[in-house]
Amino acid sequence: MSNVLPCPVAKKCGGCQLTNMTYAEQLSFKQRKAVKLLGRFCRVEEILPAPQPYHYRNKVQAAFGTTRSGLVISGVYQSGTHTIVKTDACLIEDKRADAIIVSVRNLLKAFKLPVYNEDTGRGFLRHVLVRVAKGTGEIMVVLVTGTPVFPSKNAFCRALSEAHPEITTIVQNINDGHTSLVLGTRETVLYGEGHITDLLLGKRFHISPRSFYQVNYETTEILYEKVLEYAGLTGCERVIDAYAGVGTIGMALSDAAGEVVSVELNADAVQDARKNAKLNGVKNMRFICADATVFLREMAAAHEHADVVIMDPPRAGSTPQFIKSVCTLKPDRVVYVSCNPETLARDLVLFEKQGYRVKKCQPVDMFPQTNHVETVVSLVRKIPDMYVGFKIDLDEQDLTASEAHPTYEEIKAYIQKEYGVKVSSLYISQVKRKLGLEVGESFKKPKKENTKQPQCPPDKERIIIEALKHFKMI
Ligand code: SAH
Repeated sequence: MSNVLPCPVAKKCGGCQLTNMTYAEQLSFKQRKAVKLLGRFCRVEEILPAPQPYHYRNKVQAAFGTTRSGLVISGVYQSGTHTIVKTDACLIEDKRADAIIVSVRNLLKAFKLPVYNEDTGRGFLRHVLVRVAKGTGEIMVVLVTGTPVFPSKNAFCRALSEAHPEITTIVQNINDGHTSLVLGTRETVLYGEGHITDLLLGKRFHISPRSFYQVNYETTEILYEKVLEYAGLTGCERVIDAYAGVGTIGMALSDAAGEVVSVELNADAVQDARKNAKLNGVKNMRFICADATVFLREMAAAHEHADVVIMDPPRAGSTPQFIKSVCTLKPDRVVYVSCNPETLARDLVLFEKQGYRVKKCQPVDMFPQTNHVETVVSLVRKIPDMYVGFKIDLDEQDLTASEAHPTYEEIKAYIQKEYGVKVSSLYISQVKRKLGLEVGESFKKPKKENTKQPQCPPDKERIIIEALKHFKMI
């Protein structure tokens, strides 16, 4: 997409930070960010673009209020405030959802229903939430009200569903608290079944008003396919799916695993996950409602084993105790899904210190127009002597390959570009010598017997080995 689509409220809303860039520019911005933060662990694959960079959000929320002159408005809160920025359309939200919200606003007037006033606690409509199941086309509308009383509710729902036959269910959610949370805890189904069903990688998922569900449908499938690939399942593995939400990742790969243990803190999500397993006839999953760190610590203390651990923590990342417990369980592979490369980098350091190596790193553009970067990383357990494999490889090398001679500057430039890391010629020579490769005269020995040279640290050593492989020197 070569054009930039202007958003008139970008500054006030603050939800999207990159709308002034073309989509290609956004992708290269995110690639650079990923390389800068994660390049020191392994080569960062080219970011996978979103099939739909605009209007991808399947969950749309609008706040309702009135202007001083009494005009009813709906839109988003100005960043950091409770002032509503009036919007009828948004560059990243599903267009059907936006149109439904405008219709609700118009119907309020026709039905003489007042909007809620945050200061007085009086009035009726607070928010409208629309969720679209893109795999099936089902649409849920949640009317969040300040009171349970809903005058002419049947006529209102009829009018709304006649204007939008695509709506499959309407729910009233009652939120009478002084809170910035959108949804309250009480709900009444006004029309349809009270949930929608989506399809992800051939599995069906019930989504109720309060369920967590990924907001970008198309990219979620791409992300999960990557998780599946990195998990490397053969049908018999014991897999832990930690920070599991409604169990989507675990369920998507359950056919390829022996057993999946799904761990999630939110009780509503766990309940949804159990229903989803029934819906799909999945019998090899267990659902644990617990803090992931506590559960993993208990598993480690009980000397349990896992073959693959999948983890998808919130933006704050995981905990040192969780990572320590995972390393005690000694899975062959860990797949880390992250929506925050900063906390991901922090956590990867802990994995590396405890016997794991980052093998692959794949950014995926889950949130076009925003500066968020989603990444899937595959970690593998290090074999005790990481050079054994290379020595065998060297013996089996075809000579023409080992005769390749890139200059030190070429190797440095490659490493800088691919990993965002600077290495010195000295370090390159140390690694080459360790692998039995020819080094230049000036690197052959330390100048004096007792000269202390800085030694190439293990993370850079690994990157240099990757670069030497790239140049077919090993
Ligand atoms: N893997 C899921 C959800 C990822 S969002 C998916 O792809 O849809 C992160 C999830 O972690 C949320 O569902 C949140 O409720 C859960 N979570 C947050 N802190 C947790 C903790 N300490 N232990 C277990 N789960 C937690």
